[in-house]
Amino acid sequence: MSQSPVPTHLPLAGRPMRRLFRYLQTYRGAFLFACGSSITNKILDLMPPLLVGWVIDSLRGAPPGWISRLAGTRDPWSLAVVLAGLSVVIFFFESLFEWLYQSAFRDLAQTVQHDLRMDAYNQVQAREISFFEEHRLGEILALLNDDVNQLERFLNTGFNEMLQVGVLFAFSMAVMIPISWQLSLVALFPVPFILWGGITYQRLIAPRYSRVRDGVGALASRLENNIAGIHVIKSFTAERFETERVRQVSEDYRRSNLAAIRYSAAYIPVIRMLIVIGFAGVLLVGSYWVLNGSGILSAGELVLFAMLTERLLWPITRLGTTLDDFERAKASSRRIFGLLDTPSRIAEPAHPIRLGRAQGEIRFDGVSFRYARGRGDEPVLRDLTFRIAPGETLGVAGPTGAGKSTLIKLLLRFYDVDNGTVRLDGHDVRDIPLADLRRNIALVSQEVYLFHGTIRENIAYVNGDAPFAEVERAARLAQLHDFVVSLPQGYDTPVGERGIQLSGGQRQRLSIARAIVKDAPILLLDEATSAVDTETERAIQQALSALTAGRTALIIAHRLSTIRHADRILVLRDGAVVEEGHHDDLLARGGTYADLWQLQSGEVATPPRSTLREPDPLP
Ligand code: ATP
Repeated sequence: MSQSPVPTHLPLAGRPMRRLFRYLQTYRGAFLFACGSSITNKILDLMPPLLVGWVIDSLRGAPPGWISRLAGTRDPWSLAVVLAGLSVVIFFFESLFEWLYQSAFRDLAQTVQHDLRMDAYNQVQAREISFFEEHRLGEILALLNDDVNQLERFLNTGFNEMLQVGVLFAFSMAVMIPISWQLSLVALFPVPFILWGGITYQRLIAPRYSRVRDGVGALASRLENNIAGIHVIKSFTAERFETERVRQVSEDYRRSNLAAIRYSAAYIPVIRMLIVIGFAGVLLVGSYWVLNGSGILSAGELVLFAMLTERLLWPITRLGTTLDDFERAKASSRRIFGLLDTPSRIAEPAHPIRLGRAQGEIRFDGVSFRYARGRGDEPVLRDLTFRIAPGETLGVAGPTGAGKSTLIKLLLRFYDVDNGTVRLDGHDVRDIPLADLRRNIALVSQEVYLFHGTIRENIAYVNGDAPFAEVERAARLAQLHDFVVSLPQGYDTPVGERGIQLSGGQRQRLSIARAIVKDAPILLLDEATSAVDTETERAIQQALSALTAGRTALIIAHRLSTIRHADRILVLRDGAVVEEGHHDDLLARGGTYADLWQLQSGEVATPPRSTLREPDPLP
């Protein structure tokens, strides 16, 4: 089985807005309530033009029949008082419904964002390790932060505005057409042009917003990279070099934003000119009809028409901003759903074999593997076969780049093999649920990651409720206890940015303690003691032999003294086993292992050929 092609960009989903609305539908009740409140608010908001029209006609002694019936009089002043009272009631309910729809839409926006953020995070967390190698960290963070937050504006206000423009249009037409369809046509004249302008604008702006989103990702990535690598930057006095690199991505981002802004800023002034045509047209034609007494409409109706036209057309100018929000939300949704649609390439088994506590038998049968990104087609492991019996400790040695760490990554299913099978207790690891597999394995690697929190929390890690005595026992075994109790806050000392910084050796010991608390039947140590001095290592060795007793252990070490007491030692070279046996047998054989041993124990002055370092791994 060959690796899938390597994507360079996060995948994009089709029909993103439909998908977003499906999320909204989960909260159908709240969504309908928000829409209902918004529609009611808009209808009430449109009443003032009607009220003004009725007041004018009432003052001129020609009130609409229903108003005089309601008031029980045709007296202009009494009618004006009734209409003023009505407007107070209307304004009260308009405000009430505004409050209701605003809070309902905001609640919904936050809830949907929360759901999407959690789904996206879980999806990212479940992705295979190569996903994190193929995509820049900043790009992933931009998706989880910026893209999800980008939806807020649209869900808060954008969607509501689209809804209200629809209501406005329907309501205005229902009022205007019965009064005068001719004048309605004049009022509506600019609408097709405004809509055409909106659609053209949307087409032009969409790719520009996509570039803005990409720019955010690239910038976040560069900044993240530089802050993480600040030690290297300073030690190489590379500040100017890095400033220039940041300047370039920031400049690209600025340019892509400018390109988008140029269009979005021009939209409203252009559309406004179209609106003026409709508004002036209604004033002109309507005034002419009122003046020449054609009977088509009254003065009150002309005022109503003019006010409604203004109310109808101006919000359509906002359609630009709303479409803008829509496009931004669409670009973000495309990325979010693109991520959600892409399953991990390390799949859960279709027919899982559940595994309780494993016996710990590990087998590699004819395993071949190459990384998707790496040295072209050259395999890292070639037809590799070996077995570790339950409870056995296997040491793995070999020159750098020989493929030692890759064994561990395949066993943990960080990657899947190209050919052959990795087995645990006789089962193909691809048939064991990932959680069952990884629960059975404790890994201590050279790169130790500490989470924000106290020393105690870091040792207990997932087993947060592990009794303190257990944490302390693990720290003692890992030779960390004395150091911890020498700190003023002891086990409650925070590590990381706000707490103490641990040395490389202390981190390694903490990581060993963490593995002890995990209490898994299989232990993988990858250069786990490389950062401690020989004396500490000797002390840790004792702890490790207590730890490995009764467990299967695979120990990778450059420093051969670490593995000399292993039950068996495997020597890897170019992804294949070149020697295998006990320390003494291997020394007697005089091969690669013996060469390495002689070099490390100072028995030879110059490195034998077999120990020469291979080229550094490709980035
Ligand atoms: P060392 O002793 O230096 O840790 P190793 O024997 O553990 O080396 P591996 O880490 O297994 O070697 O790497 C074997 C080869 O695979 C190296 O050539 C390395 O460049 C390559 N390699 C390792 N990890 C990756 C990766 N994630 N993507 C591409 N190539 C990789």
